Amino acid sequence: MKDYDFDLFVIGAGSGGVRASRMAASFGARVAVAEDMYLGGTCVNVGCVPKKLFAYAAHFAEDIEDARGYGWDLAEAGFTWKRLLDNKNAEITRLNGIYRNLLVSAGVTLIDGRARFVDSHTVEVNGTRHTAERILIATGGWPFVPEFPGREHVITSNEAFYLEQLPRRTLVVGGGYIAVEFASIFHGLGCETSLLYRGDLFLRGFDRDVREHVALTLQAKGLDLQFNTDVQRIDRHSDGSLKVTLQNGGVLETDLVLYATGRRPRVEGLGLENTGVSLSDKGFVEVDELYQTRDPAVFAIGDVTDTVQLTPVALAEGMALARRLYKPEEYLPVDYEHLATAVFCIPNIATLGLTEIQARERGHKLRVFESRFRAMRNTLAGRPEQSFMKLVVDKHSDQVLGIHMVGPDAGEIIQGLAVAVKAGATKAVFDATLGIHPTAAEEFVTMRTPVREDD
Ligand code: FAD
Ligand code: NDP
Repeated sequence: MKDYDFDLFVIGAGSGGVRASRMAASFGARVAVAEDMYLGGTCVNVGCVPKKLFAYAAHFAEDIEDARGYGWDLAEAGFTWKRLLDNKNAEITRLNGIYRNLLVSAGVTLIDGRARFVDSHTVEVNGTRHTAERILIATGGWPFVPEFPGREHVITSNEAFYLEQLPRRTLVVGGGYIAVEFASIFHGLGCETSLLYRGDLFLRGFDRDVREHVALTLQAKGLDLQFNTDVQRIDRHSDGSLKVTLQNGGVLETDLVLYATGRRPRVEGLGLENTGVSLSDKGFVEVDELYQTRDPAVFAIGDVTDTVQLTPVALAEGMALARRLYKPEEYLPVDYEHLATAVFCIPNIATLGLTEIQARERGHKLRVFESRFRAMRNTLAGRPEQSFMKLVVDKHSDQVLGIHMVGPDAGEIIQGLAVAVKAGATKAVFDATLGIHPTAAEEFVTMRTPVREDD
């Protein structure tokens, strides 16, 4: 066999690449990873982590308001954006260091720089060539902004994490995870915030009841939601503010426009033309169910492929691939069916398994349970906001097919239930489970009467 420098060369030290490198090295492979921007990738630097820190910051606005009803008199609250930013940056730097240590202590060779394929077994970084028996593409994605006049005036989530100043007014364009999360963050931090979505209701793909509940809840908090329209053009006034002309003829004046209209795979300049790797019509690296590209020496995982763009998915794919290549006796395929996910808007959305519509499309006859209630914490706070919970159950097998929640800490609550559903829990098991009282989560084990039942 040819003598390569490494058994596995990983391009990209994000969620998927770090996991695959560490695992492969722990199974005895000689591994190198190249990273050209930041260790930990999108999630650690411009994704999950700083976003969650910002969401915590935004949440304090309501916590401070709510404290009054519980007897607290707080001096007038003030907020300093720069302090949040500096503290966030320090935390990310700490995490970058942890990732470096994790890789180095696992025996992975870390190469700082942008990697480019020379051929199927050779990668060039900073002018130096490295050969490997196998090469893994884990280069992630990058924000996509459509073409329109004035596109140069908008920012994406990448820049939102480093704003020098928090603007007075913000407009978020898009109706997916990032748009809804950032609209909540900006609103919570005190910006006058609008969200613009081209369809009739945002969060396409989530359960319809969840989408409606979230829209009403965000509007009640004072967020301006504008659906069924899109941006036609953006012009900058001489004072720096922005005039946004909408396709429905409306005009919005704002200080910042954040585009959150999806992400695209990051493959430009990667030298894929020097390999046998093929791309889909949307530009994703095409792989089979074992993350093998059309080139026998090249593999791909995470956001650069047409998978679900979530960190736990990239991690699981990295783990599965490392096991398959270097510890096949422990190989387990990734379970894409029982995915749990949360949108960290305020309040949280969390969801697991099938929506009601998806379950019907798959031919299930259903019993659907719902609960809408005011969380106890909101009573003395004088906050009318309601939480929403929903169970989608197969009528014949009693299997719980989907769980959906909008409310405080929904992500924390659904994570536990995900274990139960993965283990095959039926509604009868939920019913036989004692609650923890008083919690919001106990509602999931006390819903007795279906709101809808198929014949
Ligand atoms: P990435 O993490 O993007 O890593 C790819 C790495 O490759 C990067 O570090 C990049 O610099 C490097 N790279 C690219 N090209 C090259 C090259 N040629 N040479 C060397 N290095 C290269 N997911 C969740 O599960 N929960 C969340 O709360 C969440 N929040 C998010 C919030 C935002 C604002 C965004 C944008 C994403 C969020 N995600 C979240 C999604 C999550 O971040 C991604 O799904 C995940 O990071 C994908 O991992 P990956 O390894 O495929 O790619
Ligand atoms: P999403 O794919 O979630 O949403 C994109 C949104 O932009 C959709 O509402 C889409 O509308 C709209 N859109 C797409 N193209 C256009 C266009 N040309 N003009 C106007 N609107 C457009 O992408 P995000 O950017 O929000 O996030 C990327 C991914 O990152 C998410 O899908 C998610 O997997 C991951 N992520 C996860 C988070 C979490 O786990 N909490 C948080 C943030 C991101 P339509 O629905 O009509 O197509």
